[in-house]
Formats: sequence, structure tokens, C-alpha cells
Amino acid sequence: MPNTPVIPDFEDFKRDIIEIFEHVTPHTEGTPDKDLYPEGLENPPFAVSICTVDGQWLQLGDHHLSFSIQSISKPINYGIAIEECGKETVHRHIGKEPGAENFEKGMILNRHNLPHNPMINSGSIMSASLIKPNLDNDKKLEHVMGIWKKLCGEKPLGFDQDAFKKEMEASHSNFALAHIMMKHNAFPENTDLNKAVEFHYMCCSIGINIDDLAHAAATLANYGTSPSNGIKVFEHDTVKDMLSLMLSCGMYDHSGEFAFNVGIPSKSGVDGGMIAVIPELMGISIYSPPLDEHGNTVRGVKFCEKLVEKFNFHKHDALFRNVHGKKDPRIDHRKR
Ligand code: GLU
Repeated sequence: MPNTPVIPDFEDFKRDIIEIFEHVTPHTEGTPDKDLYPEGLENPPFAVSICTVDGQWLQLGDHHLSFSIQSISKPINYGIAIEECGKETVHRHIGKEPGAENFEKGMILNRHNLPHNPMINSGSIMSASLIKPNLDNDKKLEHVMGIWKKLCGEKPLGFDQDAFKKEMEASHSNFALAHIMMKHNAFPENTDLNKAVEFHYMCCSIGINIDDLAHAAATLANYGTSPSNGIKVFEHDTVKDMLSLMLSCGMYDHSGEFAFNVGIPSKSGVDGGMIAVIPELMGISIYSPPLDEHGNTVRGVKFCEKLVEKFNFHKHDALFRNVHGKKDPRIDHRKR
């Protein structure tokens, strides 16, 4: 007997997602990142891609575009650092608590003088320093892009030279963060601060399209195993750690609200990309550059809010007890 797909009535699910997509499309408010889009954007693109853990696909909107992953590199680099150095070593250098991203407010480091968590820039610079420290940055990037390639189902990735250049030119605050961390001995011994900051930006500048990003999110939803070819990219335990911190810290200073309202481990980036991971069901990627005041894609946040109004995807929606009247696409209502 053929296996039942995780979403048995995919056509019905598709109809609901199209309705949400159309509801969110008019929300063109927000401002694209000023370093990446100094001129702004007249008709901001919008795309959503969904890949289930068993490889069902749904693609909507502007799929031909690619963009830089930016902060979506952070959970991946964190996972790579864990697998290469071990969780304990990583957390000797990076905390696990949400904290103030906006360091002008004063809370640059936690009370142990470490970055608050791996999902903010200070934590990302730290992960960048932990990954293969003896290689030069070009070789390090090759290594990290090799892992992204596996996450994307063996699809090649690009490098957004333009984003890299623009960001390096505006890198003062990240260098400031790195110097403060260096002053407090937060880095592993012999860390080259300039190399770590540059590598952070190199990873942010990896170029991707929305469908490959959805496949990467689906690999996380599948606890580290690629849905298209069964290759294990990360250990289950590593993905558990990545998702835990994405849930509590993945949406900048909106992380607590987002965990409360949406309850899906997610990570956004300043080029307008975002992933949302529904474990054992699907990975979602969203692309729309206008950002809200927290730096999250406006349409991405709205899409996720609408999604959990319709479906029981919030972490605490009590999967097997339909107390809220939301839909569960895992159930085939045609059989009833
Ligand atoms: N590239 C950004 C920076 O270092 C961080 C990426 C992001 O927040 O999406 O300023």
C-alpha cells in the first residue's frame, strides 16, 4: 500500500494557503533595508514556498528572484558550530537567552560577557569564529556553502557580491561588537576579529532562491534529513537546539511576541527572507523585502499570523485535541 502523504488533501491545503497569500499581498508597508536598498523598492516582490517533509511543494508569487540569506545564516552557522565543536564549547562562548539586539540600548553582552544568543549579530560573529578556525575565509565559505547545498537538496547556491560589498562598507557596529567581545575575552583564544566579522558578512551574502530555501527549512522540519534524497545534513539533537533558539530568539526584538502569537520556530533576515519550520510537517520560506520596525519582513510576519489563525500550527495548539476549531491538514477530511 502506498504511504499516505503528510498532507493527504494537498489541494484543499493549497486553496487555504492561496487565500492567505492573497490576503497578505496588499501589505506593501515597511521599509527595505537601507544598506541593501538605498533607493528603496517600488513594487516589492512577494513569494512563498512550502516544502513538506515528504516532498510535496507549493510555490506562490515571485519565484524567479534570488536574494541574500542574511540572518537566516545564523541558525545554520550555529548548527555547524555545534556539530564541529560540541554544544558545551559553543555555549562557553554564546548564551541561550533572548537579549537586546539593539546595542545602543546598552545590553551588548549578557552577564557572563558573552553574546546573548546565536541569532543576533554578536552571536553570529562568534559562530563565525568557531567554524573551522584554521581555514581562510574563502575555504570556510566553501565549507559552509557545501552544507547549504545539502540543505537545499544539492542545488547550487550563489554569492551576492553586491550585498557583501554594501554591508562591509557599513560594518562599523559589527566591528564595534566584535571589539567589545574581544575586550571581554569572549572569543576562543587566537581569534582573528577581522576575519570573524568578514566571515559573518560572507555567510550573510550567500544568495538563494525561495524554493531552495523552503527545502532547507523542510530539512530542519525533518530534523536534519533532506526530504528529497534522504541525506542527513544535521543530527536530530543539533536541529532541536537550532529550533529551540529560533523559537525564542529568531525574530529580533519581536521574538517573544512572535513566539506567543505564532509559536513556530522561525528566522528572518534583513534582505526580506524568512523561514518558518513546522517540525515533522513542513518548511516554509517567505520573501518580501519591506521590513517592520524590528527588521522582520512585514508580509512574512503577517503570513505566519494568518497561518496560525487557520491551522493548528502554533506549538501549543494541542495537536490531537481540536479545542480551537482550527484546521489540521494532516487529517484527510474527505474520508469522513
Ligand atoms: N548582515 C546583517 C548585519 O550584519 C545581519 C543580517 C540580518 O540581520 O539579517 O548587519
